[in-house]
Amino acid sequence: MAIELLTIGTELLLGNTVDTNSAEIGRALAAAGVPVLRRTSVADDPAAIREAALAALQRTGAVLATGGLGPTADDVTKKVIADLFGMRLTFRQEVWEALVARFARAGRVPPEKNREQAEVPEGGVILPNRWGTAPGLWLEGPQGLAILLPGVPAEMRGLLHHEVLPRLTPRAGGRVVRSRTVRTTGVPESALAERLDRVEAEVAPLSLAYLPGIEGVDLRLTAWNLAPEEADRLLAESAALLTGRAREWCYGEGDDDLAAVLLAEARRASLRLATAESCTGGGIGARLTGIPGSSDVFLGGVIAYHNEAKRSLLGVPGDLFATHGAVSEPVAAAMAAGAARRFGAELTISVTGIAGPDGGTPDKPVGLVYLGFSVRGKVTVHRHQFPGTREDVRGRAVQMALFRLLQLLRAGSSPAGATV
Ligand code: AMP
Ligand code: MG
Repeated sequence: MAIELLTIGTELLLGNTVDTNSAEIGRALAAAGVPVLRRTSVADDPAAIREAALAALQRTGAVLATGGLGPTADDVTKKVIADLFGMRLTFRQEVWEALVARFARAGRVPPEKNREQAEVPEGGVILPNRWGTAPGLWLEGPQGLAILLPGVPAEMRGLLHHEVLPRLTPRAGGRVVRSRTVRTTGVPESALAERLDRVEAEVAPLSLAYLPGIEGVDLRLTAWNLAPEEADRLLAESAALLTGRAREWCYGEGDDDLAAVLLAEARRASLRLATAESCTGGGIGARLTGIPGSSDVFLGGVIAYHNEAKRSLLGVPGDLFATHGAVSEPVAAAMAAGAARRFGAELTISVTGIAGPDGGTPDKPVGLVYLGFSVRGKVTVHRHQFPGTREDVRGRAVQMALFRLLQLLRAGSSPAGATV
């Protein structure tokens, strides 16, 4: 059993509304073992809706459409699909009464216009909508299966979970589509792929996707159409394989946040952390304080953007700016050491860099960032050259800073890394 999605609404094509329904339905149907093979968006245009629905039915035999079920003139989905199935629209008293009752609860009487919403394709199943006025519809015929849901996300969601999934899941034959994600950072996609070395063959029949982003590369494993226990077993085995091979670059799974992983590691070692940020403007502090309960580890930070603030708040010697520039290894080191003194923290992170879009020079281009660290008084600095926009450079610098400190902590706590 597979299905195609059809989202209907001129606003989707104009870009005024983001098609969140497709993403949500895709996730829910995959989890239920009914993979979405294709998705299409069309305007509120009868010919376009008919053509798209017909093509989906001919290809896949089943289509789930959202949108265009409202009472206004631009909502034409029901008429078009009923016509495609050769079903007449008939007025259904019980649908009308449910609608009247819904309006009555709000102290209102439905406008005449809403009577059209009680017209239902003959032979179709009505999916009662407790979240709004337009019922969903389930139509089956020689053409295949068409499921029609309202476009309003909350109504779509209610109908999807209460009416559609209970009917579709049995058709999946007890099979599921499930994913598990291993999170990595601090390594480019290509270098990670080289390390994993044709691991695709080893994780088969699971599929493996590399999902690069500002925070790193996520490795998503997916089990397709397997029994739930089999899917979970293979996903666990393959996730362990990937974690082992990605080793030092791997920091967690699923929704794990690198900031939370770092905080936990520091907590275990009874170490406290402070920051001194220039070009990230508090981004590291924001990530750390985004984790509940971080106050036992994170003491605070200084946003030292102007050189004068670096000097007066962190004690960076003024001559360093003239001899090396604010974006330099000595300044990053002095900021890390200054934060350690200022906060009395065993761990500090400092950042100074050129986020752009202006301010770059041939020897200090946009994207150049120095990350400084102080671990129990020992200061190290890493030089990085990050690609992308100002936002990208800042985001990458934050993630890399968290990652580098985690590496320093892990190396310090393992016997082999005692010299770091
Ligand atoms: P409709 O059922 O076509 O009357 O849709 C009502 C409202 O739901 C629209 O004005 C949109 O704001 C929203 N909507 C429709 N389709 C989608 C979609 N695919 N994703 C997210 N929102 C949608
Ligand atoms: Mg609409």
